[in-house]
Amino acid sequence: MSAPLPTDIDVAVIGGGPAGSTAATLLARQGWRVSLIERDRHPRFHIGESLLPLNLPILERLGVLAEVAAMGVHKPAADFLGESGAHNRFRFDRALRVVADHAFQVRRDQFDDLLFRTAASAGADARESTEVVAVHREADQHWTVALKRADETVSLRCRYLIDCSGRDTLLARQWKLKRAHPRHRSAALYGHFRGVERRPGDDAGNISIYRLPQGWMWMIPLPDDVMSVGAVCTPDYLKQRRGALDTFLRETVCTHPEAARRMQRAEAAAPAEATGNYSYQSREIAGPGWVMAGDAYAFVDPIFSSGVFLAMHSAEQAAQLVDRVLRAPAEESTLQRAYRRRMDAGLKTFSWFIERFTTPTMRHLFERPRNVWQIEQAVISMLSGDVFDNPAVHSRLRAFRMIYRITAVGLRWQRWRGRGAPAATLESTA
Ligand SMILES: Cc1cc2nc3c(=O)[nH]c(=O)nc-3n(C[C@H](O)[C@H](O)[C@H](O)COP(=O)(O)OP(=O)(O)OC[C@H]3O[C@@H](n4cnc5c(N)ncnc54)[C@H](O)[C@@H]3O)c2cc1C
Repeated sequence: MSAPLPTDIDVAVIGGGPAGSTAATLLARQGWRVSLIERDRHPRFHIGESLLPLNLPILERLGVLAEVAAMGVHKPAADFLGESGAHNRFRFDRALRVVADHAFQVRRDQFDDLLFRTAASAGADARESTEVVAVHREADQHWTVALKRADETVSLRCRYLIDCSGRDTLLARQWKLKRAHPRHRSAALYGHFRGVERRPGDDAGNISIYRLPQGWMWMIPLPDDVMSVGAVCTPDYLKQRRGALDTFLRETVCTHPEAARRMQRAEAAAPAEATGNYSYQSREIAGPGWVMAGDAYAFVDPIFSSGVFLAMHSAEQAAQLVDRVLRAPAEESTLQRAYRRRMDAGLKTFSWFIERFTTPTMRHLFERPRNVWQIEQAVISMLSGDVFDNPAVHSRLRAFRMIYRITAVGLRWQRWRGRGAPAATLESTA
């Protein structure tokens, strides 16, 4: 029998994924009475298994880095492979500022379970199999949170709400704040396989990102010979599916010759799954008595594996904000504006690259990296997650954007003249 639900608390955190467990841990450590409410029961499957180097300092602050290192696969680099076979490896030890020279690939059932238990150990009342069904702000500025568990509906009162409900976007849906990305309406299909060929030697733990005519795909090596394999494709392509999802996933992945070779001995280790209605952002990130973190606020295409890092980073920021507002309520709107600016700037940095990733210009630049003025290193810093506090990265990414524009004009001009691709704008540093 579980302990009785505390009914009058300081902070209710909705959702016990990476964002929710991070926020709950940090606030409980500050001495606040926190409830962390999770609809599912850990350990449970979740997609999003490739972490970034900038995740590591957060894991260290949470006190779980050693356990994540023990459960994960060492990830020293991200490999990008073009349709033509062009191959580029971005090693994290070449970032402008090396905060960590690697990251980890993790099974999210284990990773999320660890973070959830960490929140409980920190003193949060961590509840599983309990769903937040509605929230309501009372006249006394407290929230009533309605919860459904097993066969009963109960409620609790709190001073502050943190929405970490992930792609369920509880508050954004309830308050009609959610905006789908106008151009990124792709969907993803994915599954776990055994027997997929790993890259040789030191590269065995790299994530591999392959460009496909209909989108892109990933291979993420996990422990016990499991490989997470998935593809993000256009809606038109996905409409072509006739047979089972597993077969369609395999056929899609095998449209890339190298991926097909690596899949030759692959056997499904779990049924394939799919996710639609892809990228979105909420019109608001916070308001009186509430704040969002992680996917509950925004979701960008995971081609650069940014999701878990952004979720945990925003959760740290949200926890700091809530801690300060509970002590000094008059600061709320100033702190919320700063939080929004910070999160939107980080999302924008990733989004600029993501939205252009499939363009001929970006393909051209990614396949011919050149480190003039350390621009390639700045791109690696972005791929490491260093998008918030590093002016050196930002100035170089601005220069990259300029090169992109010039290259785009050059490529158009070359096409117009019918001469094929121009000479490389960036020369290889390999
Ligand atoms: C196809 C795909 C591939 C991806 N690949 C990567 C990757 O390689 N690397 C990466 O970093 N990210 C990746 N991501 C993104 C990553 O999965 C998310 O960004 C990350 O999980 C966000 O964490 P979160 O805590 O915000 O949300 P989640 O991890 O989704 O956690 C939200 C939690 O809230 C719970 N919940 C929802 N509603 C309620 C409710 N009403 N009451 C109580 N609980 C509720 C859910 O059960 C869930 O446990 C990928 C995403 C997709 C779709």
